[in-house]
Amino acid sequence: MKALHSARLVKRQLGNITNTVKRNEFLQKLDQVKCWQKDGRRAPHKPLLMLLALGRVAQGQERLARYEEDIRHPLTNLLKLFGPPRKEIRPEYPFGRLRNDGLWEVPGGESLPSSVRGDLHRRGLIEHAAVGGFPKPIYDLLRSDSRLLQQTARKLLYEHFPYSLHEDILAATGFPSEFLMWESPGLPYGLAAKQIYIRKRDPDFRHNVLEAYEYRCAVCSFDLRLEDEVLGLEAAHIKWHSAGGPDVVPNGLALCSIHHKALDRGALGLMPTADGFKVLISEKVDGESNATRWFWECQNVPLRQPRISNFEPKAEFVRWHTREVFRDTLEALQNQPTHVGG
Ligand SMILES: [Zn+2]
Repeated sequence: MKALHSARLVKRQLGNITNTVKRNEFLQKLDQVKCWQKDGRRAPHKPLLMLLALGRVAQGQERLARYEEDIRHPLTNLLKLFGPPRKEIRPEYPFGRLRNDGLWEVPGGESLPSSVRGDLHRRGLIEHAAVGGFPKPIYDLLRSDSRLLQQTARKLLYEHFPYSLHEDILAATGFPSEFLMWESPGLPYGLAAKQIYIRKRDPDFRHNVLEAYEYRCAVCSFDLRLEDEVLGLEAAHIKWHSAGGPDVVPNGLALCSIHHKALDRGALGLMPTADGFKVLISEKVDGESNATRWFWECQNVPLRQPRISNFEPKAEFVRWHTREVFRDTLEALQNQPTHVGG
């Protein structure tokens, strides 16, 4: 009896060790995923494909997803909503390229038509009814460890998107609602610091930015207070922290919650003028309520000037936002002079 008990114990311990090894190998691969990066351009294709696949694991769906039915449309939509504004959206790229990082499998992929660079052709994927998914050991690991599943999703979100978009992305990638009830901003969910890339944040950023704008939204002057404390006013990064944007006032704006979200989603942009910046609203913004009309009324209004001119938004951060986030990029870029500010 005793021998049987200790044999079970050893087996369980060995199982734990094997799982820890697998887990660490997986996290290492995740750290080494190559995302195309140049001049601060965003390339969230692989992270969004992984989040979509993680959402499938969280829903208990089978490992291999059909490219045409399960991936192409939702991934295109995710890239449209949360990716940089680009003329062409290529969901087939991450579907093929994530294989090189050891985190994706396309059975029979070797015989599918591909470019000289090894990219799978979109038509080939559709015509051959290609399927893809996490390799089986990784899928099994994620299925058996819901905490790791959550950590992986959180890591991808932190490394590629501002906090204000995390819930939207989780909902759009099909995570069940209980996965949405996670921790507060700034704290990686259960991950040790070395397992997640998060640049240290300046704890004074919020205070410095709000003070620079005298505790008012720089777009609509919103200044609601409850018992003398501001309510619904936030310090936004113009160039995202996850994209290397610094925690300095010229990269910050005091914004009400709505205008913060609108800035991060690209519904709102900024354009330099002779004496500062003005507010742009993306043509893609729509709605019928009075509140939507109120939102539209901010089109072309001058952005509130900070208390000191040194605190004004720096043009290089605004240019990044216009190019990588704002939803009217091409037109706005054409009209944006490059000589203003730094
Ligand atoms: Zn506002």
